[in-house]
Amino acid sequence: MRGAVLYGPGDVRFEDRAEPTIVNQTDAIISMAATCVCGSDLWPYRGLQAIAGPTPMGHEYCGIVDEVGSAVRLIKKGQFVIGSFFASDNTCPHCHHGYQTSCRHKEFVGGAQAPLLRVPLADGTLVASPDVPPDDLIPSILACSDVLGTGWFAADAANVMPGATVVVVGDGAVGLLGILAAKQMGAGRIIAMSGHATRQKLAREFGAAEVVTERGDEGVTRIKQLTNGIGADSVLECVGTEQSMRQAIHCTRPGGSVGYVGVPHGVEFDGQELFYAHVRLHGGPAPVRRYLPNLIELVWERKINPGRVFDLTLPLAEVVEGYRAMDERRAIKTLLRP
Ligand SMILES: [Zn+2]
Repeated sequence: MRGAVLYGPGDVRFEDRAEPTIVNQTDAIISMAATCVCGSDLWPYRGLQAIAGPTPMGHEYCGIVDEVGSAVRLIKKGQFVIGSFFASDNTCPHCHHGYQTSCRHKEFVGGAQAPLLRVPLADGTLVASPDVPPDDLIPSILACSDVLGTGWFAADAANVMPGATVVVVGDGAVGLLGILAAKQMGAGRIIAMSGHATRQKLAREFGAAEVVTERGDEGVTRIKQLTNGIGADSVLECVGTEQSMRQAIHCTRPGGSVGYVGVPHGVEFDGQELFYAHVRLHGGPAPVRRYLPNLIELVWERKINPGRVFDLTLPLAEVVEGYRAMDERRAIKTLLRP
């Protein structure tokens, strides 16, 4: 089979790879219906995160179960399934608390930008959809795998309550779906921070009533002006830079909450600055598995349309252009079909 492999900065190739096989009897092999390029794939693609050697790429997936190991009990061949970027047993104490991305047996699921994928701990990791989805639902189903689940966790971690004033830092696909999540949780007022016209449009479609284009200290000043000098109840940080984290913390009112899901790169904080900000911080790798059953149901019943973040669809064979388009911000997010 052929799949995406990253060799170094700007050098992703579509090339021959060995077909995955059952390694442990708790594995499943799935035949990919759709996969995509993640904002986090751009960190190593841009050379901002080192890779050890040629790395098979992709960690967002949905498709039909092709084969299961002899120890798999719940997931069956032929089911249409969705899973997250960390495999989890869904039985250990951390999983029971809803933190499957800290599962004691967690394993990163990589190499999804390919026609076939091995998923470890299939019974704990995968969730079956009610049936094989109609074609027009595939983008929204795929979004559950990471980008929607991560935006949802950002809103949950930021403690979004009905009527709350919410600020979203970051207008990538995760930030945009954080807006959708906050809206679903009953936010009263959502302010998106975005300087890009096409992303602002989608932000409004997902539920943002206002857009702030300024960044950094100017952005914070603008948010303070819009909230009578108080700041927001809940702020979603969906970028991962020091500037975005600082912006998020200082847009939050004392006693408010920041949910941070941008993978931090070079973020450092002074203890005193955090101390006097007086905010709650919660975040980390989103435990998408916790939300999957609910998110799949919302998509299945067509109550939400998170697949709107895919503004470029390409055959998997054109994955190289998929990365380029996102890197150059010509596309918000690229969907790939094998
Ligand atoms: Zn676990």
